[in-house]
Amino acid sequence: MQCPKCGSENINFQMVGESKLKTKHHGAIYWLFIGWWLQPLLWLFLTLPMLLVTIFGHKKQKLITKHKSVAVCQNCGNSWNT
Ligand SMILES: [Zn+2]
Repeated sequence: MQCPKCGSENINFQMVGESKLKTKHHGAIYWLFIGWWLQPLLWLFLTLPMLLVTIFGHKKQKLITKHKSVAVCQNCGNSWNT
């Protein structure tokens, strides 16, 4: 394998853990017009039932971590997904 940037074959591979739980961030306009009433509603209708399911439901939950290989060029420092 060669570095796509500089063509060097001095490449190191790294395993990177990637968490699947990501929080979307909304802008100020979103919060001004929608967020302040939508979020409590979503919390009421989604989070509460989910909490109840979590508390009273079965406890077979897994935290899924996706591992991906990242190549790092030792010559120029360029990194890319393999
Ligand atoms: Zn390179």
